[in-house]
Amino acid sequence: MPPEVLEASARALVDYNGMGAGIAELSHRGPELDAVFDETTARVRALMDVPDEYDVLYLQGGATTLFATIPMCFLREQADYLITGEWTLKAAEAARYYGRVNVIGSSEATGFDRNPTGWHPTPGADYLYVCSNETISGTRWSELPSHPSLIVDASSELMARPFDVRRLALLFGGAQKNLGPAGLVLAIVRRDLYERIPSTVPAIFDFRAQAKAGSRLNTPPTFAVYMLLETLRWLEREGGIPEIERRNEQKAALIYEALDELSDFYTPTVTDKPNRSRMNVTFRLPTEALTNQFLQESEARGMIGLKGYRTVGGIRASIYNAMPIEGCAALAELMRDFAETKLSVVSSRKQRPVL
Ligand code: PMP
Repeated sequence: MPPEVLEASARALVDYNGMGAGIAELSHRGPELDAVFDETTARVRALMDVPDEYDVLYLQGGATTLFATIPMCFLREQADYLITGEWTLKAAEAARYYGRVNVIGSSEATGFDRNPTGWHPTPGADYLYVCSNETISGTRWSELPSHPSLIVDASSELMARPFDVRRLALLFGGAQKNLGPAGLVLAIVRRDLYERIPSTVPAIFDFRAQAKAGSRLNTPPTFAVYMLLETLRWLEREGGIPEIERRNEQKAALIYEALDELSDFYTPTVTDKPNRSRMNVTFRLPTEALTNQFLQESEARGMIGLKGYRTVGGIRASIYNAMPIEGCAALAELMRDFAETKLSVVSSRKQRPVL
């Protein structure tokens, strides 16, 4: 998270506006929190150009909870899912309890190295579900599919690229990549979807009930919402989403350039170049031992968290909004230095005469 956001949030946690009490100690139904929720929603609406027919909701339980509550509320008969990685696999699995799940396209057979092509939506399906950016494998939909009820998990891309909300039925994401602390979910929901919600859905899982209660049906994670607000203030100061997207493209390009240039040493996990992630750059080294050495070297240079996801291995550079361009340049430099040393060792070994 941006240092300014952390510092402002830390101050508010200790003493909010000189009240002698921290933001997390104030009532979630008091005037201070009313103002926090109102400003947060106004900023989300302005930054993302959210039309009036949509609600902005703050939900709990992480994005995984919505893997279940989305079909619980909106899957009446059948829904289409495009499987591009572990997060869509999990979402499709969670939906099976509520209706027929049509996997209309999947790149699982090729290790999620691309986005599926040649798929067709099922006529009459309740919705089409996609993940805009697969955080683990590193693919993204650079162009989102079109569908009258398109549901998008944008956990790792919310506020990192512009989304045309008018083309979507529901956009949601866990806050922990670009927006704030884990546990909080930001959801933008087209209100006409509410008609589909069965009366058996408990209020706490019911999007309409949450909207009616201003996302305060029970005690919400007020401090997490406050950190989101500070992040939105920061985003606006930085120039908004188009400027952040421009920087994100530049940041990712630095690493991909090194990756493409050194393709005889590093292997990108994603082969579908137009759809490679700008948030999570994933690649492999020739051996496990070299991967470990690379990780050690990265830590020695002050870079942490580069180990690939536990199910995938290799390297994953997560370069969310708050990562400065210098961090990406440092990684690209490490990639070049490391490959150069190792390749020169290999070539000198090859050249050594066999005695
Ligand atoms: N979707 C995506 C794309 C994710 O990256 C993640 C978590 N990293 C999730 C869903 C699950 O989020 P949570 O851990 O908040 O449930």
